[in-house]
Amino acid sequence: MVFDNLYQGHRQAVHPDALFVQGDLADHDALAKLFVAHPDFDGIMHFASYTLVGESMQQPLKYLRDNLVNAANVLEQAAQYGVQRFILSSTANLFDEPERTPIDEHERIVPGSPYGESKFFVERLLHWFERIYGIRYVCLRYFNAAGDTPDRGEDHTPETHLIPLILQVALAQREHITVFGDDYPTRDGTCVRDYIHVVDLASAHILAMENLDRVGSRKYNLGNGTGFTVMEVIEAARRATGHPIPHIIGPRRAGDPAVLVASSESIQRELGWKPRYPDIDAIVQSAWAWHRTHPHGYKH
Ligand code: UDP
Repeated sequence: MVFDNLYQGHRQAVHPDALFVQGDLADHDALAKLFVAHPDFDGIMHFASYTLVGESMQQPLKYLRDNLVNAANVLEQAAQYGVQRFILSSTANLFDEPERTPIDEHERIVPGSPYGESKFFVERLLHWFERIYGIRYVCLRYFNAAGDTPDRGEDHTPETHLIPLILQVALAQREHITVFGDDYPTRDGTCVRDYIHVVDLASAHILAMENLDRVGSRKYNLGNGTGFTVMEVIEAARRATGHPIPHIIGPRRAGDPAVLVASSESIQRELGWKPRYPDIDAIVQSAWAWHRTHPHGYKH
């Protein structure tokens, strides 16, 4: 069962075997109706939320209020109907000032924006919903979600993410990619990020749900454990596409830390999770395969 308002999502991306209900988590009555009709869900995976760090600095309440209220609405139904398993899409934006790299689950939580704070609010909601209603949960703190599958790909309006923007240059939809700063203390001066393929994120969700009763509530940082600079991602895209992909250097983007790399040692050890796409070339190739065949996204 997929419940989505399709503000950001795409109807075509829903698996044909899934039941789909278009609705909004802010709509209390629509949610209540869903649970009345299906009172026996095994678990809930809560992917929905506003996710743009930059936008959250301009419109903080869209994040601090709406992301919290929407999650609270679904948790309220979960508690009422006795749904005992909950997987949350959380974020690396909890770690704005990491003291150690790679970042493990002992790292101090310092949200980098109202977006990160809103995810922290929901992690805290889950803490109390476990204590009071017995709902077990896993928070999966995604680092940089990336990559596509042959039939499902990244299609945001507006697009803000590095890999699809780079591939738009290869598709001649934009003239160049702007690199946000080349004066960071990294090997080539550009930001280092940990790119994790959506297929690996998906397998982590399935493992988390399957093992929740055994391992109990957990918080896992989820990345490949290897960082790549913005220039290295551009180079990978040049190799994948054969296009020169011109780039220019622009100013730093506000709020970008120099290096964000996950330690996913806990989820590997406890759930046996292992990324199938540890390599940036394979991630970018998978993205190129989709974007080349869907140059206008789902509207192609
Ligand atoms: N980035 C860039 N140019 C762009 C978009 C992103 O240089 O047009 C950089 C950004 O500064 C960051 C990395 O690429 O270091 C990944 O950014 P993205 O927005 O994809 O993900 P985020 O790290 O914000 O989750």
